[in-house]
Amino acid sequence: VYQQKQDDYELMAHISRFFQQQLKTAKDKETAIDYLKGRGLSGEVVKRFGIGYISDEWDGVMNTFSNNGQANQQLIDLGMAISGEKNRPYDRFRGRIMFPISDKRGRVIGFGGRVLGDAKPKYLNSPETRIYHKGQELYGLHEAKQANKQLTRLVVVEGYMDVVALAQHGVDYAVASLGTATTFEQLQTLFRTVPEVICCYDGDRAGRDAAWRAMENALPLIRDGFSLKFVFVPDGEDPDSLIRTQGQKAFETIIDNAMPLSKFLFEQLMQKVDMSSLEGRAALVESFQPYLAKLPDSILKDSMLNEIANNFGTGSEQFLAKLTKNIKASA
Ligand code: ATP
Ligand code: MN
Ligand code: MN
Ligand code: MN
Repeated sequence: VYQQKQDDYELMAHISRFFQQQLKTAKDKETAIDYLKGRGLSGEVVKRFGIGYISDEWDGVMNTFSNNGQANQQLIDLGMAISGEKNRPYDRFRGRIMFPISDKRGRVIGFGGRVLGDAKPKYLNSPETRIYHKGQELYGLHEAKQANKQLTRLVVVEGYMDVVALAQHGVDYAVASLGTATTFEQLQTLFRTVPEVICCYDGDRAGRDAAWRAMENALPLIRDGFSLKFVFVPDGEDPDSLIRTQGQKAFETIIDNAMPLSKFLFEQLMQKVDMSSLEGRAALVESFQPYLAKLPDSILKDSMLNEIANNFGTGSEQFLAKLTKNIKASA
């Protein structure tokens, strides 16, 4: 089994180099280079992220890497080829800019591929394979660690292009959660790496929902000294478009002023109730409980409890004691 896995990583590394080489040798390489230039990327950043290209053909990878049934099966297993009904397997990725996804040791385990035009789907990602487990990996984490000996914070974004565009503008500490909502496992990895994580998703409905889900997933991980924060980019923008128009300095000021988890939670829950009535305020106190129950015991948790008791409850000792008891019971 061990030997097999070594071969998988080796093969993926070879394929990644092949995609990078295609940016220099493919017949239509100019189209790909123009696309990357059009997105504001320098050759240096393209190289740092190992970005490559594959022309729109059925057998670019198959022709180069398969020579027997066993090799074909491995390409299928690794998500690089799709088994044809009657014909031989064909390439999964065709006519796309290729972003290699590395694990934290820097080994290529999968790819994301973007079309150069408006064809659908815009992005195609590697499927789950024996070496690629979507919800556990973070695109750009290896590159961020390489660029920063002393990482103190990480920005989480939605897309490959967000990570790369931020790096292009000097924000070389961004990672992407790869299409899924940021999972508990991903947040665990993040907080094992840095004490401060800033979610900066797209300025649309999906982005705001993703922020809420990341907050819910992160609660058990928020001990004193660790913080999750949120940046809400303007509607219709994403970190890529934002840094291109605002530049590094303005973007980092936005990051510096990100909203802490506690404030996000308070604001969101308050929106759902009628704060002018006692009933609404009671409902608010109620709605806090499942979230507080998930937080580990900490000074932050005590402060939030106090805040709720003082502002939305009676502020009495008995009230605080009752609230604390409720939360313990529901945890
Ligand atoms: P671009 O700036 O290149 O147009 P984006 O990264 O802003 O792309 P979004 O539509 O905001 O694209 O999607 C964010 C991320 O979600 C993508 O980077 C990709 O990882 C994932 N994604 C988007 N569309 C798809 C899709 N059709 N299938 C799978 N994953 C997708
Ligand atoms: Mn989006
Ligand atoms: Mn986007
Ligand atoms: Mn974008």
